[in-house]
Amino acid sequence: MDPGAFRAHAHALADWIANYLQDPTPYPVLPRISPGDIRAALPAEAPEDAEPFDRVFADFERVLVPGLTHWNHPGFLGYFAITASPPGVLAEFLAAALNQQAMLWRTSPAATELEEVTLAWLRRLVGLPDVFDGVIYDTASISTLHALAAARQVAVPGVRTQGLTGRDLPRLRVYCSDQAHSSIDKAAIMLGLGIEGVRRVPSDDGFRLRPDALSAAVAADRRNGEQPMAVVATIGTTSSTSVDPVKQIAAVCKAEGLWLHVDAAYAGSAAIVPALRPPFTGWELADSIVINPHKWLFTPFDLSAFYCRRPDVLRAALALVPAYLETPEDDAVRNLMDTGIQLGRRFRALKLWAVLRCYGAARLRDAIAGHISLAREFASWVDADPFFERLAEVPFSVVCFRANPKDGRPGPELDALNERLMHAVNATGEVFLSHTRLRGALALRLAVGHLHTERRHVARAWALLRDAAARLGSV
Ligand code: PLP
Repeated sequence: MDPGAFRAHAHALADWIANYLQDPTPYPVLPRISPGDIRAALPAEAPEDAEPFDRVFADFERVLVPGLTHWNHPGFLGYFAITASPPGVLAEFLAAALNQQAMLWRTSPAATELEEVTLAWLRRLVGLPDVFDGVIYDTASISTLHALAAARQVAVPGVRTQGLTGRDLPRLRVYCSDQAHSSIDKAAIMLGLGIEGVRRVPSDDGFRLRPDALSAAVAADRRNGEQPMAVVATIGTTSSTSVDPVKQIAAVCKAEGLWLHVDAAYAGSAAIVPALRPPFTGWELADSIVINPHKWLFTPFDLSAFYCRRPDVLRAALALVPAYLETPEDDAVRNLMDTGIQLGRRFRALKLWAVLRCYGAARLRDAIAGHISLAREFASWVDADPFFERLAEVPFSVVCFRANPKDGRPGPELDALNERLMHAVNATGEVFLSHTRLRGALALRLAVGHLHTERRHVARAWALLRDAAARLGSV
């Protein structure tokens, strides 16, 4: 592609993207296609001869766009809603062009030092002490994997050389609540602890980890000759956004000598609002914390901030310097490969930097506080309607609820009704809600998180829910 063609395509793309970001509502939030449609519309082999970008773009619009789920749609109210904010998108364009690979300071001094600066900015915005050092990853799953690799290093100092197999070691245990994210199980699989190494401690009526049950589980495991290693407390669980009592859990960890990792992947961004800090009490006592700016800080996917107060342990666990990566300034700089899982790393800090600067903390705080008040208003509509009920508290911007005509129908029928309701509402293409299970019951989830979601979108979701409920015979 010659420079002139690149320039022309880049200008055209800029227009397409600007229109898309300004108003993605002409598209249905969920695509109306069937499994395999996209694959079938594309050739099985790569082209032998060069094709012009116009043809690639034409197929992008014709084949791929109809197969997109529009996470940028203000009616996207499922899972945790996210935002490809324009400053973040511009930074991603630059990052792609610059193609920085910041494994070593010298392979990208700017990406290395900007990562430090932006993580320090975020750390101060959320009110964490400067003792926490950061690493940027793609996702919270990797941040949590890294946290537990560090915890394993402390529990079994010889693990990096000797591994866990072929020698006599007690079973290592990680504790979290029955509401904690599956990434903890996945990390346990990858670290050789196995899913059975994860003890899921019962949560209370509000879906919060019970510290008494945690202490009892740790004591029971010690009696059995096992080795407790780490606890993962969650601030903002995936299903209901419940908040574990971190301060009390930290006290258990201190008494028992356990690594405390706090999973604030979703809710951590809310700590930029000082008035919303109470649920975070005690997280400053953690050994490590994960916050995902790609979830609720308007940073395009993907960017997960992993903080750890023990960079010495991160190095002890993973630093490796082969001869071809030695540099003369090794002692004077931070080489990001020393404190990270992967060697190559892209310039993710650029988009977080752009977002933090182009919005400013005040606007970001307003957006998050606004989302929480929208969720609370939606919860008040649910509470006031006798045919619906709320299934969990609303500490942040997610509401768990269901239709319940209270006509004595058994649980599975109630679940089926709510599933039909969700599919009916999602089929309109105007909004998208997802679901979870709380104590076995199917719960609908409305998650406010996109920067452009306004009261009218949440109100429209409520109107569609009520209409569908009436049609399905529950109201
Ligand atoms: N932790 C929590 C509490 C989550 O809700 C999620 C995803 O929703 C994750 C971890 C995993 O996030 P990621 O997709 O960044 O790996």
